[in-house]
Formats: sequence, structure tokens, C-alpha cells
Amino acid sequence: MTIRLPAELVAAGLAPPEKLADLARVAQRYAVALTPEIAALVDRADPHDPIARQFVPDVAELTTTPDERADPIGDDAHSPVAGIVHRYPDRVLLKLVNVCAVYCRFCFRREMVGPGRQMLSADQLDAALGYVAGHPEVWEVILTGGDPLVLSARRLGAVIARIAAVAQVKIIRLHTRLPVVAPDRITPSLVRALKAPGKTTYVALHANHPRELTQQVRSACARIVDAGIPMVSQSVLLRGVNDDAGTLTQLMRAFVECRIKPYYLHHADLAPGTAHFRTTIAEGQALMRALRGRVSGLAQPAYVLDIPGGYGKVPAGPGYIDMCGDAGALVEDINGVKREYP
Ligand code: SF4
Repeated sequence: MTIRLPAELVAAGLAPPEKLADLARVAQRYAVALTPEIAALVDRADPHDPIARQFVPDVAELTTTPDERADPIGDDAHSPVAGIVHRYPDRVLLKLVNVCAVYCRFCFRREMVGPGRQMLSADQLDAALGYVAGHPEVWEVILTGGDPLVLSARRLGAVIARIAAVAQVKIIRLHTRLPVVAPDRITPSLVRALKAPGKTTYVALHANHPRELTQQVRSACARIVDAGIPMVSQSVLLRGVNDDAGTLTQLMRAFVECRIKPYYLHHADLAPGTAHFRTTIAEGQALMRALRGRVSGLAQPAYVLDIPGGYGKVPAGPGYIDMCGDAGALVEDINGVKREYP
């Protein structure tokens, strides 16, 4: 059974009884859910366990800093109709559902996701798909949320078929945490529902720590990749979870071993009550430098930052080249030594 209540967290040994009142205050404000697989992954003997940190509520979430905001990446500013975010010319987000199988404590859409916030209504979905059909520049539709894979195979397949019927849409991408948090729900029928004849489906998997990629999770991902669906990863750089080069190396290598190409390492967004998770950008850049020197190119994600206010995502990784006008350039090697380039 999914754990949703503070008392259930205590009963499962995921929090001490003296924290019950604090947990209740946090749970009143933000949704809580841990699947059995995630609860089983928590090392109860470790007070700093990186899995617990991602899913077990913390009283620090009740502190909102002045820079934090309900809509940190500015979805609302680019939402022409309910469920659609059209921020970049050639792609739209389609937010089908506002529920997830788990609720991550650092979620950038934490003000918008939670139980009771269900999927788009039939009329809203018609309007959203009408918007896609009416915009010939839309080459890619990205299903996000919430977690679109929480839908049944039948419902998800029906939506994907409708998207696929739009001639200009060539790519359908789904962002999900489900293969990690409920791997048994990646059934053959759900995998079949992701595909549409003549279109290319990508699945972007959200995971932040190498321990999340258990054998069952790897098998779930293999079911997707074996069906001919390429996978990419997305992770969030989180203090106390993966903010060291060794953990990031293991995480990125685990993705590659699963045939998942590391794609994004997000700088943590300014979501309310998440300051305890955020690193500085300089720390993120130093970690990327460490990875660049020691890990295969296949295992390099792009470190990206969403500019608050809806201005989009930009690469935030370290620079290696100083242009020197007519004198050429200075290029920094992986050991930090500047080399001349004519
Ligand atoms: S699964 Fe994604 S949308 Fe859902 S709570 Fe976690 S980060 Fe947020």
C-alpha cells in the first residue's frame, strides 16, 4: 500500500513518533506519497538516507524564502489553454494529469500536483489537442504532469493516438518517475500504449540516486527500451542526495548501463520550501567539471537552469574556452590547465 499519512510514515519506521506533529503540518501543505518499493529502499538506520530525503516530508519545507515562488519555471505565463505550456517554438508540454505515484519533496510543480487534482476534462483535452493541431510549428509533444504513466494503458493509448493523428507532430515524449517508484506498473500493455505508428516515442526517466535503479527498475526500463522506445534521463541536483561527484558518477553510469542516455541534470528550481535541497550554481558547475574529467562522454548530462519567470532553460555548465580576439583562444583541459588554440 502506498504510504500517504504521517501516522503511516511513523508506523513504517520512516520517521520517529516525536516528529508526528511536524509531519502533519507539512502534509497539510504538500502532498505525501511513498510507494512500497520506495519505502523498502529507505535505509532506516541512516539518518541522512538519500532516498528518505527525497520522499519523507521534512519540517524545513514549511520555510519559504523570499526568492521562492509557486510557479518557479513560469508555466502559467506560457499556457494558452488549460494543460498546454508553449514556451519554445517547436514543442509543447501537455499536462494530462496532476497526480503522481509518489510526491517528491523538492518538486518544482508541488503547488500544482497532489491527490484530488485529476486529469484534464474531456473538453479541456479537446481544446488542448485542438491547440496542437492548429500550430504547424509543433514538432514534439511532451507529456508531463504529474506523471502521465499513472494513467491506464487504455486511457494513455487513446491520448497518444490522438496526438499521433496530428500530422506535424513527429515526436511524443513522456516524462515519468513510474518505472523507478512502481516498476511492476510498466506492463507490456502500458509499453504498447506508448507507441504510435509512424511517430517516435521517447521516455524521459526521472531518478536522482543510483540506489533508485534496482534490478526491478532496470527490468522495467528494459521492457521499454526492448520495445524500441529510446530513453533519456533527467535528474535534479539535490543537496544531501546527489551533490557529490561519486554519487553522480554512479547515477549516470547506471543510466547508461540501462540504455538510458543521460540528458538533463537540473539545477533545483525555486519551488516553495525547497531551500534545503538547493546547491549553488558554482557547486553544480564544479561537479560537472569533475564528471567531465572522470566519466565517459556517454554518461555526461547537460547541467541546466530554468530561468525564473518562464524565460526558458539554459545550459548552466562550466565554460572551457576563453576567446582572446585575434589571438585565438585559451582552452581549459580536464585538469584545469589552460591551453592555447590558434
Ligand atoms: S514525480 Fe515529478 S511531478 Fe510528481 S512530485 Fe515527483 S517531481 Fe513532481
